[in-house]
This record gives sequence, structure tokens and C-alpha cells, in this order.
Amino acid sequence: MLQSCVQPDPSPRSDLPDGHRVPRFAGINTFARLPHTQDLRDVDVAVVGVPFDGGATFRPGARFGPQKIREMSVLLRPFNPALGVEPFAEFRVVDWGDAVCSPISMEDSFRAIERAIEAVVSADAFPLVLGGDHSISLPVLRALAKRHGPLGLVHFDAHPDTWDVHFGRKYSHATPFRRAIEEGLVDGSRYIQVGIRGSLPKPTDLTDARALGVTVLSADEALEMGLDTALSRIREVATGRVYVTLDIDVVDPAFAPGTGTPEVGGLSSREIIRLVRGLGPLEVLGFDLVEVAPPYDHGEITAILAANLAYEMLSTRVRRWRPKGAQAALAEARDGRAGK
Ligand code: MN
Ligand code: MN
Repeated sequence: MLQSCVQPDPSPRSDLPDGHRVPRFAGINTFARLPHTQDLRDVDVAVVGVPFDGGATFRPGARFGPQKIREMSVLLRPFNPALGVEPFAEFRVVDWGDAVCSPISMEDSFRAIERAIEAVVSADAFPLVLGGDHSISLPVLRALAKRHGPLGLVHFDAHPDTWDVHFGRKYSHATPFRRAIEEGLVDGSRYIQVGIRGSLPKPTDLTDARALGVTVLSADEALEMGLDTALSRIREVATGRVYVTLDIDVVDPAFAPGTGTPEVGGLSSREIIRLVRGLGPLEVLGFDLVEVAPPYDHGEITAILAANLAYEMLSTRVRRWRPKGAQAALAEARDGRAGK
């Protein structure tokens, strides 16, 4: 039994239908056609949908993000040639389903999101979260920090989301990361924002995030220094255990029109994919992809990009996020050596 745990398992850990036998457009909608279950024994990665957009301040619609991303994710195939990995073979990945959010209560929704992520984290599974507007990152971070302590943060976005109040309120999709620093969930000195751009309410908005200790890399700076240099900056700042949050509006509206607060002059699809692939060396404990608003999408290009970015993030965890089978085998081997 121990032998079978220690040896690499050549068969896929995730239970996926064969795309050459069952058409990709057939069947019930889950992320990448993975099985839907909330039984997380032996599960390495859980995809969690968070259909909540009550924190959006301009165009709502991200509540429909998780289902549309799932719908377009059926085209994701098992082998990622760019990284040379088969994430669904290395990991047991499941679609946990959605946190049950309330469309009329941010408080109820935040509690439901935190509980859902707690279930994933307490099962030692990696949460791969599909939003939802950006306010949802706060309850996700609450659940993660409860387990792991203050985290570093890699934050891709056109907007800093470190404002203090919006419409007189402390909680919205424009404020989650100031709250996360205040609550001790995120360490400002290990937090980097990438892709910031666009017009601002006031000049101090540029300096406010830096006053919190945050490193800010505007879209212009990231593109002018080159992606490899930008990745080096990210790795310098986001040391130790980190969370990665990706607001799809970091991408130019030409490539990702389906979002609530579009800003021109952003990254291309290729550029954001390249940056996500470059996060391999980081110790990432969770990931969210937010602000996909299907009502403004065209040809589902935003949802297709989002599905692929989630897949790329998952691919970077191969050989970084230890599968449960390997954890158990290591523990057994260690206990065996100790003569227990
Ligand atoms: Mn955002
Ligand atoms: Mn944004």
C-alpha cells in the first residue's frame, strides 16, 4: 500500500471524461468537466464559484462570471505544452460548486464565502476561486489568513482597490485590500499591484497605496520594463506564502470587454498569460480570478481568457503544491523511519 503511494501514479488523479469519446459540449457544466463534489478527502485543488457582484460600483454582472467561465472551460485539455505539465493528472481537482451568496446582503455573502473557503482550506486543498466582483477576495483572505497568518499578495488589476471608503461605505470592490491590510490578513510590505492605469478621482490615489507599504507597478511601467523584469519585481516583493488575485480588467478591454470597470491601455491576453506562467516559483496558497461580467462580453472572449488563466495558474502549482497522496506517503515514510 505504501509502495503504491510512493511510486508516481501514471493514471490521472482527476476524474475527467475522455474528450475524444464524450464531446466537450455534452454533459453538466463544471469547470473543465471535472467532477462536482464537496467531499474533499484526497482532493488537492477545489474550484469554488462565488457568484456575487453586490460590491460593484459601475456595471454589475460578475455574479454570472462563475457559470460562464465554467461553460467556456470545457475546451481546456489535459496537457499544457507551454509548461510541460498535466495538471489534472498531477492533482485531484474537483469543482466544489458555488458559495451560496445573497444578492441583497454583502454581510451574508461574505460569511458564506468565508465558510466555503474554510471548508477547502481545512481539507488542505488549494482554493481556485472564480468570482464575482473583487470584494469577494476579502472573505477568501479571511479564511486563508486564519490558517496561514498574514500573506503576501500579487494583485493584477487596472485599479488599486485600496481605497478607504466608497459611497460612504467600507466594503466594496474598490476597498478589499485596504481592509485586508487593516485586518492583518495581508502584509503590505509583501504586496505588489501590477497593471494599474486609467483616470483617477484625485491625484493622491496614486500615493495612497504606496503609503500602505504596497509596491505599485503601473501597466506602463510593467510593459516598458518588460515582462521578465516585471516578474523579477513580483518575485522580489511577494516572498513567503502569498495569495494571487487577478482582476480581469488588468487586461485591455480589446481582449477582455466583459468586465464591470474597463480601462483602456491594458495588457494583452498573451502578456497576462506570460505573467501568470511566470509565478511558478512563488509559494501560492490560493488564487482568485474576478470581475468577469458576461453581459458585456462578446463572443465569450473574456470568459475564454479567464478559463485559460485559471488553468495556467493551476499548471504553475504542479510540483509546487504537493498532492495529498504524496503528503500521505511522505508522512508514512517519515513515521516508518521513526519506528512508529
Ligand atoms: Mn479589482
Ligand atoms: Mn479593476
